[in-house]
Amino acid sequence: MGSKISMVTADAMAESWMAQTYAPPRSAYVHIPFCRRRCFYCDFPISVIGDRQSGDTSPAIARYVAHLCREIDATPNLGADAGVSLETVFFGGGTPSLLSGQQLRQILERLREQFGLADAAEISIEMDPGTFTQDKVREFLGAGITRISFGAQAFQDELLAVCGRSHSVAEIYQAYAWLQEAGADHISFDLICGLPHQGLDQWQESLEAAIALKPQHLSVYDLIVEPKTVFARRYEPETDPLPDGELAAHFYRQAIAQLQTAGYEHYEVSNHAQPGYSCRHNQTYWQNRPYYGFGMGATSYSQGQRFSRPRTRVDYVKWLETYLSQNGQLNAPVVSSNDLILETLMLRLRLAAGISRAELAANLSSQALDDLHRAIAPYRKRGWVDWGEDAVRLTDPEGFLFSNSILSSLFNALEP
Ligand code: SF4
Repeated sequence: MGSKISMVTADAMAESWMAQTYAPPRSAYVHIPFCRRRCFYCDFPISVIGDRQSGDTSPAIARYVAHLCREIDATPNLGADAGVSLETVFFGGGTPSLLSGQQLRQILERLREQFGLADAAEISIEMDPGTFTQDKVREFLGAGITRISFGAQAFQDELLAVCGRSHSVAEIYQAYAWLQEAGADHISFDLICGLPHQGLDQWQESLEAAIALKPQHLSVYDLIVEPKTVFARRYEPETDPLPDGELAAHFYRQAIAQLQTAGYEHYEVSNHAQPGYSCRHNQTYWQNRPYYGFGMGATSYSQGQRFSRPRTRVDYVKWLETYLSQNGQLNAPVVSSNDLILETLMLRLRLAAGISRAELAANLSSQALDDLHRAIAPYRKRGWVDWGEDAVRLTDPEGFLFSNSILSSLFNALEP
């Protein structure tokens, strides 16, 4: 155990994971770091702008958009020679629905000019209840948005208040109606389980309420108490009023059962979709494929370099000036082939499809394959991993439920 993972370079497919790392990115992530307030569980890189501001009125947002556009303009188009353009774009945050329609259009136009946008590109944006109207949805769809990730989180006002969310349940319904009336036809719902004071009955109720609205996609997250958040100051993990491990597992199994019954495919640890509606952008991350990243706190992964931008606006602007002066060179260390393989294994195992045996054989040395086999053996015995004829995958629900501990123990067993 613990032997160094090595690439098998002789095989025809041997370079596939490495080669995909150096392929031109087909995806771009754009970070919009503004929120009305900070939710009590959130440790994302954001700026709080208060309950009244939005892209139309906030000078801070206007300045940020100008910086973002400069970063996009300065970033080399790695797909120019190969005629590769962007196939997915994701506006995440923060609360990107605080942008005005004109600002969103401007950023998309710069991306199109710099990298090209495929005709059938998936262009997603995160939108939170209480931060948009029906007119804005129409403007966003008119600008090219094809997919909306809707931050509902819970269907009980008392739980939304516990989380410090800046909207009510009534606003969820109102906002959702606007999305539908404006013609949005690919909507993903975000829900969180394991909240303080949340009972299983409330969780079932939230799932039922979300399913009744018939979104095409649902992301179900398990609360993680991140350091330096309000929750970290208030609560102790697995201690009342937070659920213990058993109840948290119950929440997870409950979600899978209800969503499967409602016809959703559980295609990734936390993600469920009606057939044909899985998120193409997130596939880029789970497949460990390259992507551009823009904006404060955003990570990019291209040319083997994984790079995270500074997490405050002041530092981001300082970094941007240097980046511009270096003609868009990142100067970040290249991910080693060992790390690349480990990362790819960890990410791919989050997908229900798992990793094909042929792909494993093509990318891992026989020693590494043996190590993987041995590290997985205890989990196979428990029925958490299926080492099948065609592919290796976590089982659903138990393997997915314990994915964190399985993946971290594989990581420890396989890292050099
Ligand atoms: S809306 Fe999202 S990004 Fe903003 S504070 Fe809440 S959880 Fe964090």
